[in-house]
Amino acid sequence: MCGIIARIGGDDGAVDELLTGLENLEYRGYDSAGLAIKNGGGPEVFKREGKISRLKDVLADETPDGGLGIGHTRWSTHGPPTDANAHPHTDCTGDVAVVHNGIVENYDELKTDLADRGHEFESDTDTEVIPHLVKEQLADGVDPETAFRRTIEKLSGSYAVAMITDREHAVYATRRGSPLVLGVDDGDYFLASDVPAFLDFTDDVVYLDDGDVVVVEPDDYRITTPDGEAVDRSVQTVEWDPEDAGKGGYDHYMLKEIHEQPAALRQTLRGRADPATGDIRLE
Ligand code: GLU
Repeated sequence: MCGIIARIGGDDGAVDELLTGLENLEYRGYDSAGLAIKNGGGPEVFKREGKISRLKDVLADETPDGGLGIGHTRWSTHGPPTDANAHPHTDCTGDVAVVHNGIVENYDELKTDLADRGHEFESDTDTEVIPHLVKEQLADGVDPETAFRRTIEKLSGSYAVAMITDREHAVYATRRGSPLVLGVDDGDYFLASDVPAFLDFTDDVVYLDDGDVVVVEPDDYRITTPDGEAVDRSVQTVEWDPEDAGKGGYDHYMLKEIHEQPAALRQTLRGRADPATGDIRLE
């Protein structure tokens, strides 16, 4: 299973906290890792196939920083594990960066239409259509939140998505069929696939529901329905010590593994079975 992490703060420090988050998500399994940092201008992307240590080596040479960024550990469904297929993915200009967990089932037709309109792609992933679609909306003059909503409306499949752009200092995220939680820490925020990702920084958590769209800025977050209506989700404090964190709130690892079986099975078949056509691909 892949992992998403985002850190939203006003000051520097995002790179270290994103790397900690990615390492805390390692237990989910992954084949590549990457992150995008917003530091004044547009997103800067760093990504590598393989272990997080390879990504760390790149970052040690480049030493970027900023207060806000998104990160990803990939478990590939579309396209082999390569540097180019690792997330984050961007549009042609690099103004929009996206991490995605799940599958965009209609990516083929979206990609064909985008290519017909002149978009060029750098990866084999289904994910890459998302930043290109957002960029088209931005180019039409809408704000990033509206561009994000209009793009999500076009996607079918399962996804948790987080996005940053060259515009506002904010992360835009949503989920449908893939997990996403919000961590709340005194004006800094985190988004992640699972609570242990940010437990080093906060134990206050908002569990997001399918369809929730969240816009997170330093000192503020808003959760809405896909139509933009405000929704109220309570902040809950998890009382897990670091060892419990790995158990995801269950009393025993065995119990956790039993409860994870439906998700593990879905995850294994994802990308190999097409529910629309009934095709099974087991290369
Ligand atoms: N479908 C996307 C890909 O193949 C995301 C996979 C994941 O959830 O890590 O890159």
